[in-house]
Parts: sequence; C-alpha cells; structure tokens
Amino acid sequence: MKIIDELKDAKIIAISGHIRPDGDCVGSVMGLYLYLQKEMPGAQIDVYLDKPADIFDCISHIHDIKSEFNTDRTYDVFVVLDTAPDRLGDAEPIYQRAGKKINIDHHISNTGYGDVSVVEPERSSTAELLYDLMRPEMIDEEIAKAIYIGIIHDTGVLRYSNTSPRTLQVVGELIKFGFDFPQIIEETFYEKTYRQTQIMGRAVAESVRFMEDRCIVSVIDRRMMEFYQVTSKDLDGIVNQLQSVKGVDCAIFMYETGESEYKVSMRSNGNVDVSAVAVKFGGGGHVRAAGCTLNGTYQDIINKLSIEIAEQFEK
Ligand code: AMP
Ligand code: MN
Ligand code: MN
Repeated sequence: MKIIDELKDAKIIAISGHIRPDGDCVGSVMGLYLYLQKEMPGAQIDVYLDKPADIFDCISHIHDIKSEFNTDRTYDVFVVLDTAPDRLGDAEPIYQRAGKKINIDHHISNTGYGDVSVVEPERSSTAELLYDLMRPEMIDEEIAKAIYIGIIHDTGVLRYSNTSPRTLQVVGELIKFGFDFPQIIEETFYEKTYRQTQIMGRAVAESVRFMEDRCIVSVIDRRMMEFYQVTSKDLDGIVNQLQSVKGVDCAIFMYETGESEYKVSMRSNGNVDVSAVAVKFGGGGHVRAAGCTLNGTYQDIINKLSIEIAEQFEK
C-alpha cells in the first residue's frame, strides 16, 4: 500500500499525533505533511499537534503546526500517526468529525482503529513505516530529514533492539540526501540545556532501587520542576539514564502532571513487558518502552506498578 492511494480524492486533510509529542511523532507528522504538499499540491493540508520542543525547529515548516484545536473545519481525511486515536488530546473532536480516518502506528498496544489501519509493531518507529508508504521519487532532503529524526529518536540513535535490518536500510537511503546528520543527532538527541542536565542529575541522584535491585524508580514533582524552571519537555532521557544502571531490568520515571496525577514512563531490558504493565493502567507502548498516566500518591503508584512487575518476574 502507498498512502497516496488512500488520499486521492481528498481536498482537505488533517494530520496529527499524540499529546506531548516525541521525536518520532514530530518527525512522522512533519514528514507526511511535507510529502503530501508535494504529492497533492491542490489539497489543503493542516497539522494539529501540541507545540513541539524547540530542538525540532530544524525541521522545515515546523511553525505551520497548529496547536490551537478549536476549529469548525471538517476534514475529508484525518491521519493519526504514532498513536491510537485515544491520545490525540484536544484534536480528538476534529478526528471524530472527519470523513475518513487513517491510523498509522507501530505500538503493540494499538489494536487497530479507523477506516484504514496500518499498525506494524515490528517497526522501529512510525517514521520508518511511513517511509515505506511513500513513493521514493517524491522524497526530498527536507522530508528525509524529518523521517530520519523520527527514526533516530525512537531507536535511541539506532541502538535499541527495535532497530532492524530494514531500519538501517532506510537510514542508509535517507542520509544519501546529504543533510548534516551528526549535527541533527547532537542537537536534537544528546544536547541538553543546563537546567535539563541539572534536573536529570537530581532525578538520578534521588533514584531508588527495589525488588532486589531489579527495578529503579525516580520521581519529579511540580515543586522541583518549578525550582529548576523546566516543563515536561525537559525531562526526556531521564528514564533511559535510569535504565542504563547495571543489573536493572525495569526503570520507572514519573513526573507530576496535576494534583495527585503522574505521567509514568517505563523502560525494560526485555525481561519485563512494560507495555503489558502500562495497558493494565490504561496506557500502552512497546515491550521495552511504555507509558501511562496514574492518579494517587507516588507511593500508591509504585505499589500498583510493583504488583504487576512482580507478577511478571514470577512467570
Ligand atoms: P514515554 O515513556 O512517554 O517515552 O513512552 C514510551 C512509549 O510508550 C512511546 O512509544 C509512547 O508513545 C508510548 N506511550 C506512552 N504513554 C502512553 C499511553 N498513555 N498510551 C499508549 N502508549 C503510550
Ligand atoms: Mn511517540
Ligand atoms: Mn513511535
């Protein structure tokens, strides 16, 4: 299948991804946006997404993204990328009104939604999957760059186990376009502001191991975020840092999103299926990387998660 076959007669198209968009989400959404502008010059194409982090300013036309969702437009087609429609946030009413719904994703927890559903959990990233849905002759340097960003962010720069031979082939084809990929990796993935580095250090210093040191957890509350003057966008990478601790099977990082409400991120080395744990609490993701939002005190939440993780260790 090529995505263009599903869009042929559409005059007005919306593209969106999940709340708190990560690199794969931003790269996929922008990659598809730039691609469709070339494929369908007569169509109106709008992108709805929470405002991406500043690191993504290197993506062409990133400021075309609409982060205000109060529109009365009805779209012929709505394309949801890198999530099931349940994490569209305030874009969901626009999705519900659309004539045709297309869902392209790689989350194992996505059971398939919309009129056309392309869910391939063996894909490293939505961006990689999307690349194979595009006609190669229409891809240019700016599209390639957006897709590349999606792939490197979801694979931790091609080092997680979701990286497949196909991932590396696609990346090989993408870097032929000649963009400065070492700079993209440095500036979008590794570089941190001073404040981001400080709060990561704090989270790592205050982390606690439990369950015979097989799990590690750290939490950042709103007071701490205010103290370091950071937002949720500044907390990327902390959970991965925790996962790097020798001997740890499962890392948990949580930050407070509201009164007794926490966003939970989990990472596993493969011995725990964290997607299964997240699904139990209304979230989802992949076997080795998943997330959910939970209410309660920090201790309550750890207790709930521990029970599910312990059950898996017993198996
Ligand atoms: P995070 O810990 O937020 O970086 O997410 C890890 C992986 O799980 C990513 O692929 C997310 O898209 C996915 N994920 C995070 N939260 C949820 C959720 N509430 N529902 C479904 N998937 C999620
Ligand atoms: Mn994502
Ligand atoms: Mn993804």
